[in-house]
Amino acid sequence: MSLPDPHSLHPDTLAVRSGIERSQFGEHGEAMYLTSSFVFENAAQAAARFSGEEEGYVYARFSNPTVSALQTRLAALEGAEGCVATASGMSAILALAMATLQAGDHVVASNGLFGATQQLFGGILSRFGIQTTFVPTTDLDAWRDATQPRTRLFFTETPSNPLTEVVDIAAVADIAHEAGALLAVDNCFCSPALQRPLDFGADVVVHSATKYLDGQGRVLGGAVAGRKLVTDEVFKFLRTAGPTLSPFNAWVIFKGLETLRVRMEAQSASALELAKWLEAQPGVARVYYPGLRSHPQHELAMRQQKTGGAIVSFDVEGGRDAAWKVVDSTRLISITANLGDTKTTITHPATTTHGRISAEARASAGIGDGLLRVAVGLEHVDDIKEDLARGLAR
Ligand SMILES: *Cc1c(COP(=O)(O)O)cnc(C)c1O
Repeated sequence: MSLPDPHSLHPDTLAVRSGIERSQFGEHGEAMYLTSSFVFENAAQAAARFSGEEEGYVYARFSNPTVSALQTRLAALEGAEGCVATASGMSAILALAMATLQAGDHVVASNGLFGATQQLFGGILSRFGIQTTFVPTTDLDAWRDATQPRTRLFFTETPSNPLTEVVDIAAVADIAHEAGALLAVDNCFCSPALQRPLDFGADVVVHSATKYLDGQGRVLGGAVAGRKLVTDEVFKFLRTAGPTLSPFNAWVIFKGLETLRVRMEAQSASALELAKWLEAQPGVARVYYPGLRSHPQHELAMRQQKTGGAIVSFDVEGGRDAAWKVVDSTRLISITANLGDTKTTITHPATTTHGRISAEARASAGIGDGLLRVAVGLEHVDDIKEDLARGLAR
């Protein structure tokens, strides 16, 4: 028996039920197909599969049932026509750029991007004749003014990393479409459980599946999901160039999606409580969290997102030394640059994730030496508070 029409099912149901049919063994947990190639009945079928005349699996650089299952499930959650899984979040962004841009084209991107994304657009792609203008994330006039005749792609993250600035997706989508460009949104921080950028007019979303989609810090992965027009081109690049997700990693992420919403809601609830508590701590100059009323874009965030998310950043008074003291006084929270895990993590962005960009670029993006980013996990929130209180109290 096949599933009811997916359009009649809720995202919660699709998160656990969509993706792959049972094999002849009737397994309940979805099978993992660790195979690099597929066998044909005869020479004619091999030819038909290669030419695309007959649907079916060929070779795992571009087709594998477990990877397809993840793509189907993630597309359902994002409300996307198509989805292509990739080896990492960065390879998803690279594949999107390779699929949509050519030499001479221009990109407008927000200046609050993940460090490696900034380097990809600002550094690597510029060597191939693709120029990027970085604009202040929340300044809609700046987005419009940066547009050029060859602008093909707008790229942003919302909320941004690490300052949790919120981009008005519908407004930026309008500006992009007026310019004849596509809008891509990195949906890493919210995941489709909290925010669906395509519903607000974005053409495509990219993911670092390494973060909340897996959700337990186990594997790297990425994905591009959105209009078929775009994902078909991404697929052609992946088929040829091979930044492919392994079936093993695909299976891990696929199972992660089943618990995505409950994790995101629980981690968001703790993040909100932690953010309110931090606001009341002496030694904390400012807290950045979209779920707080004090966040300059609180209302916009609540229109776009179900919650404020699970990332809380804050400035401590006393600059780098004071920030490092908070980090080094933790005994429970993990000191690591990753986020989106069930285990809470803490990062000092200025010397880690954003350490490779220039001091000027950091300052213009508002990333000070006293800034800390906490990605809240599933521990009891009181234990997280106590772990941070130790370093703040000194
Ligand atoms: C981690 C991250 C990426 C890159 O993903 P990888 O899986 O590490 O390649 C891109 N965007 C954001 C917002 C991230 O946090």
